[in-house]
Amino acid sequence: MSLLVVGSVAFDSVKTSGGTADEVLGGSATYCAYAASFFGPTRIVSPVGEDMSETHLEELREHNIDVTGVRVVPGGKTLRWSGRYSDSFLERTTEDIQLNVFADYDTTLPDEYLDSEYVFLANGAPEAQRAVLEQLPDRKLAFLDTMNHWIEGSRGALDEVLGLVDGLVVNDEEARLLTGETNLLTAARRLAGFGPEIVVIKKGEHGAILVADGKPFALHAWMTEDVRDPTGAGDCFGGALMGTIAGRHDRSLATIRAGIVYGTVLASFCIEGFSLDGLRRVTMDDVERRREELLGMIRWHE
Ligand code: AMP
Repeated sequence: MSLLVVGSVAFDSVKTSGGTADEVLGGSATYCAYAASFFGPTRIVSPVGEDMSETHLEELREHNIDVTGVRVVPGGKTLRWSGRYSDSFLERTTEDIQLNVFADYDTTLPDEYLDSEYVFLANGAPEAQRAVLEQLPDRKLAFLDTMNHWIEGSRGALDEVLGLVDGLVVNDEEARLLTGETNLLTAARRLAGFGPEIVVIKKGEHGAILVADGKPFALHAWMTEDVRDPTGAGDCFGGALMGTIAGRHDRSLATIRAGIVYGTVLASFCIEGFSLDGLRRVTMDDVERRREELLGMIRWHE
């Protein structure tokens, strides 16, 4: 398996009803790669500043992540994001974002990444997402995630890259913003019309829907009363989904649906802590055990 994740490695400051965290390791690529690496070796591409600590990178290395593509920009500062969640965790307000080195970076892939077959373009500038895809003409499968910041600010470039990917993973708010549709099934079908044949819409605690081969599929989230910080849950979902597909080297509908289940499980660990805290002590046995519990929540016998 050769899975490449492109996106942000960042410092996050987060306030939730479960507590606060200040300048902790975050970023779309960090969460996505961490979740993907449960399923096999994962490569990561992101610019960071001189303020990124070696300890953070070492932690990623120890979790099966190749960080050759994490490049330190001389004199630069790492992306900073600050956000606050409502008490219900349903609404998120971005209080501040400083893209810093992420505003415009060199997307040239390391030579040893050029054989990457599976690509997850986590949240980031559509121009950079496209530049990465263009260096991987022989890729097998590419998925893309995006967010309000890019939908509102870089729509033209985003539409272009949407035409180049096989899969799209967005949340309900982003799906509505992209399509102007309120009904999520209609939105998913419209999004497929933009290019990606596999469309996943995440709905937080209400789970996720998938439309692939024109067929809808839905899964509820793992139900928990132990939520501390939802940041990164969507990225973990996407990483585990792509990790499942890459690990099995199979893009059949059955495997994509299995990936939705693993995505749901990894997202559920993520929200139990700030930064990577909810994922740090998790083993693949824990993942499999929670997967069984999740299936137990939705299975019945008559
Ligand atoms: P999620 O909760 O899945 O939407 O992902 C949140 C992560 O995305 C945080 O760790 C942030 O550091 C990162 N992030 C926030 N805004 C941006 C942005 N405009 N581009 C890339 N990454 C971002």
